[in-house]
Amino acid sequence: MSTQSNRTAPSGFLAMVEERYRRAADLIHLRDDVRLILSQPKNVIEVNFPVRMDDGSYRLFQGYRVQHNNILGPYKGGIRYHPAVSMDEVKALAALMTWKCSLVGLPLGGAKGGVRIEPRRHSTDELMRVTRRFAHALGSNIGVDYDIPAPDLGTDAQTMAWFMDTYMNSVGYATRNLHRGVVTGKSLTCGGSQGRDKAVGQGILDLIEVWSRESGFPIAGARFIVQGFGQVGSWTALLLERAGAICVGVSDYRGSLANPAGIPLRRLREYVAIHGTIAGFGGAEAVDSETFWSLECDFAIPAALENQIDERVAARLTARLVVEGANGPTTPAAERLLLERGVTVLPDVLANSGGVIVSYFEWTQNKNNEQWDLEEVDARLARRIVRAYENAREVAARYETDLRTACYIVALERLEAAYAERGIFP
Ligand code: GLU
Repeated sequence: MSTQSNRTAPSGFLAMVEERYRRAADLIHLRDDVRLILSQPKNVIEVNFPVRMDDGSYRLFQGYRVQHNNILGPYKGGIRYHPAVSMDEVKALAALMTWKCSLVGLPLGGAKGGVRIEPRRHSTDELMRVTRRFAHALGSNIGVDYDIPAPDLGTDAQTMAWFMDTYMNSVGYATRNLHRGVVTGKSLTCGGSQGRDKAVGQGILDLIEVWSRESGFPIAGARFIVQGFGQVGSWTALLLERAGAICVGVSDYRGSLANPAGIPLRRLREYVAIHGTIAGFGGAEAVDSETFWSLECDFAIPAALENQIDERVAARLTARLVVEGANGPTTPAAERLLLERGVTVLPDVLANSGGVIVSYFEWTQNKNNEQWDLEEVDARLARRIVRAYENAREVAARYETDLRTACYIVALERLEAAYAERGIFP
């Protein structure tokens, strides 16, 4: 038996998330006891599980679930399939979920999971067995009122269907359907919500619309680049295009494309559905990564992995607005550079919170056996994400700090208040 690739997380990601937390905690003089509790995850689960490959051999996979905090509600957060998944990366992402859920006012805590695997190298059958075996290995560490996974990088609605089905098969027949909400991000057939697939992109569009009104910079005619063309990147690009913006650059794990006249996104999406990558697409010119980041544009949307915009990339970026579709894509040094230049950075915990917000709607609908229509989902999402943005803007002004720190402050103040009211057991 062998495990998949042993590559570790991008260095310093956990340290970066911790440093941002400390900065905000210092600014508001967060209570020492709360500070201590929030500085570490509550539970850290590592599982090693064997899976049969299509050729009859067995492989041992490593999976993680980190439950960072549940003072505000059940643990909540995605499951990532990627060869660079590590315990430190999952810890960082779990903490980000705690801040995100608190910031946008959800009655949910923060968690994250991952399996170290390159999903592109596995057949659908192998991915199904990996998912079922992982769900089984996590066992009662997850649950509809305890810890609710969702998709993340490398996982999707199909992954969630397998996960839910495995979990539901482990509970009694009579109560099976009460457990549908054990995961979110499901297909509509499996009990998912309208609008969950596009939720991160929709939330990003809602935020850009407010920013556009405030700054007087119109979306129609604005040029943008997007890194990553998965669920987050492709939906964000399509929705921005629908609002009149022009996509001049796209990149993914295989390469980058540019077209100053606009990349035909619908055709690109069809191409990606067949080829699994944007590489080789005919409707734009292939460019290298440096050229991609240097493209003349107004908005830049990193929607792939962490640590993608470093100082070198930041020095090249021409955008006036950076919207973090991904978690942790901008390094602190790069962010400083951008802020000095007057670039607005909409930070991950706010920018991509549309995903978990609509996950919350899905969970609520499952609990109440309801089905909301798309207009209702979109309207509720817009209200919640815009309120969080306005709140963060007000806090940023009050503390004379940047928007990211302000988002952390809003999140921490809510968590601190919960601890203050409840006290610490015993
Ligand atoms: N994985 C997404 C995130 O990072 C969504 C999590 C969820 O819906 O629970 O926010």
